[in-house]
Amino acid sequence: MIDEQFTADTRRRKKKVAFPMFGHYNIPIAYFVEHALHADYVRQPPLTRRTMEIGAKYSPDMVCTPFKTVLGSSIEALEAGADTLILPMGLCRLGYYGELAEQILRDLGYHFEMINMAEYTTGRPLDYLKAFRGFRDRVRPVRFGQLSLNTLKMAEHLDEMEDEYYKNVGFETQKGAYEKAFKTMLAEMKNAGDLAAIDAAYARCKSAFSEIPVEKGEFPLRVGIIGEYFTVMDAFSNCDLEKMLADMGVEVHRWMNVTHRNIHYPGERNLHVRISDLCSYEMGPTSTANIWCARDYAERGFDGLIHVKSAGCTPEIDIMPVLREISEQYDIPVLYLTYDTETGTAGLLTRLEAFYDMIRMRKKVV
Ligand code: SF4
Repeated sequence: MIDEQFTADTRRRKKKVAFPMFGHYNIPIAYFVEHALHADYVRQPPLTRRTMEIGAKYSPDMVCTPFKTVLGSSIEALEAGADTLILPMGLCRLGYYGELAEQILRDLGYHFEMINMAEYTTGRPLDYLKAFRGFRDRVRPVRFGQLSLNTLKMAEHLDEMEDEYYKNVGFETQKGAYEKAFKTMLAEMKNAGDLAAIDAAYARCKSAFSEIPVEKGEFPLRVGIIGEYFTVMDAFSNCDLEKMLADMGVEVHRWMNVTHRNIHYPGERNLHVRISDLCSYEMGPTSTANIWCARDYAERGFDGLIHVKSAGCTPEIDIMPVLREISEQYDIPVLYLTYDTETGTAGLLTRLEAFYDMIRMRKKVV
């Protein structure tokens, strides 16, 4: 009864919408909420140790780590004044997580409207737009379509620049030049109101990157990172893995991002053809792509692979035997990292340093 009254009240006023913190993607999501949904976007605090503690405290033991992160971040969004939560969908048990998170949050006494994207997973991408029916009276459909495309364009630009960033930042000769240009673009994207501003921020960052001198030598160490969707893309969740590697002087490659996986995905069928000797069936949300990616990095002569997964992630546990086979076949070392709600970085750094020493020595010998 209280929730029905709450829903009726939020319909009358501008909604305060939040989405759990996830890498740099909250910037395009904020643009989408403010422009396409014409609602207020609630900027909850960035992920911290507290987020993980409250997420873990109220989660069932056996769920994987991203659930705990999402729950903790949702609580922080509600504390920051959100009255509407968007929760993501997924092809694994993430599909059930929205419902579970909603129940936990309501049991804790929070009142909010819930947009559970899993309810709109039908196989037809346009059905996701039905999730935003409640906002339709505010924005005309054609305009809504344009603004949604602008959102995707912003995500694409951010992904492209982040990709370039981690391939080169470890070799810059002016310390901090890449970070400065990248942070400037993030700030400009946050304030961008239309496609022209989005494209201009991207163009300025690209141009700034191209002017930064780098000294890579002829054969820089190259490491390919593969792994579970959320943990591999969210720097807080993987304890800044890419930054640590870049700081050691490694060219860091990561194919898995929203642009590649969700916008320009080559399709399960096509990837299956390329790895049909390694796996016959679809194995999970990112498994096929990760197997393909691992072999692609190996064939291109990378010096090592790092497999990132959250504790309790069944799809990524399943691909580990295949990765071992690729490792043997191509003689490429693989470092397996499992993340839980622990946020300390000392243990990770020690393992990365050992991995780095090993691949550097192998490279010298080879
Ligand atoms: S891919 Fe793995 S970690 Fe991510 S939600 Fe699914 S089971 Fe959990």
